[in-house]
Amino acid sequence: MKPLVYHRAASLELAVQGALAGQRLLGGGTNLVDLMRKGVEGPSALLDVSGLSQDIAATADGGLRIGAAARNSRVAADPMVRERYPMLARAILAGASAQVRNMATVGGNLMQRTRCLYFQDAAASRCNKRTPGSGCDAHGGFNRYHAVIGGSDDCIATHPSDMCVTLAALDAIVHLAGPDGARTLPLADFHLLPGARPDLETALAPGEVIAAIELPPPNLAASSGYRKVRDRASYAFAVVSVALDLEVRDGRIAYIRIAFGGMAPKPWRALRAEALLAGGPVDAAQVARAMDAEFGAATPPAGAAFKIELARRTLGFMLDTLAKTPASNGSAA
Ligand code: SF4
Repeated sequence: MKPLVYHRAASLELAVQGALAGQRLLGGGTNLVDLMRKGVEGPSALLDVSGLSQDIAATADGGLRIGAAARNSRVAADPMVRERYPMLARAILAGASAQVRNMATVGGNLMQRTRCLYFQDAAASRCNKRTPGSGCDAHGGFNRYHAVIGGSDDCIATHPSDMCVTLAALDAIVHLAGPDGARTLPLADFHLLPGARPDLETALAPGEVIAAIELPPPNLAASSGYRKVRDRASYAFAVVSVALDLEVRDGRIAYIRIAFGGMAPKPWRALRAEALLAGGPVDAAQVARAMDAEFGAATPPAGAAFKIELARRTLGFMLDTLAKTPASNGSAA
C-alpha cells in the first residue's frame, strides 16, 4: 500500500508553501480522487484547499470575484451570477450531477483533467499526457470525443469543463498566489495547448495556487446562453458546446462573444468567428463563413470530424434564438 499524507491548508500562503513542496492540492476531490482510484494519479501528499475563500462578491467596477473554493452549486445559485452572468449558471447546471456540483469547486473546475478514455485507462493504454513519451492511443483509435483543433501529434484530448467555456466567453481573469506574490492571468492564457508536452496543462508556475476568478462587468444589453450537445441527456460530457453572448441592434450584430467546448484541448474562444460576424446580419451564410474562418484550417481526427458541422448548427441555432431574445444579462436566468 502506498502511504498518503493529508493536510488541510489554513491559508492561501500555506497552500502556496504546500504546492511548492510538491503536495497535491485537493478541492472537492470530484476529479482527483476519481483518478487516484483508477491509478492515473498517485500523489503521496494531499493538501485540502476546500476551506479557503468561497466568497462571491461584486467588484468596484461592476464585475464579480469568485473565490477558488466556492462550490459549483453555490455559484450557480448565486443571485448576482444568475442575474448578471446567466450563461455561467446555465453551464454549471449542465455539468455533472447535483451531488458532484455540491462538492466541486471553481478552482478545481479549472484544473479538471481530460476524460480521454486512453488517459483514464492506466492499465492498458498508451498516453503521452499520463506517461510522457509513451505514445497516444487516441490517434487512430476511438476519437469521437477528441479535439478538432489545437491538438498535436502527441495529444488530441479535449478539456472537459462546461464552466470554463463560459469563463472564456466572459473574458474571465484568474487570480493566482505564488511564492513570488500575486499575479493575474486571462483565462485564455491559463490552459495550454499540448504541443510536444501534453503533460503540461496550465500556465501555473511551481507553487502557484488559484485564489479566485474575476469576471469583468457584463454587457447588460446582451443576451447570453450556453448550449451543450451530448450523447445522453444528463451526466455526460459535451460532444460540442457553445457559449454565446450576443447583442443585436437594428438587425446587425453589435456585440458578440463565442467560445466552444468539446472542440479543443482548452476552452476555445472563437475570435476569428467573432470578427467575421461582428457588424453583420444574423444569417446562415454568415455563420458558415464564420465557422470556415475559425475551423477552416482544422485537421480533425476521423472520428471527430463531424463536430465541425455539429458546432456550426449549434452556433446557428443559438444565434437565431438569442437574436430574438430580450437582453438576459441583467435579468433572472
Ligand atoms: Fe493521452 Fe492525449 Fe492521447 Fe488521450 S489524446 S491518449 S490524453 S496523449
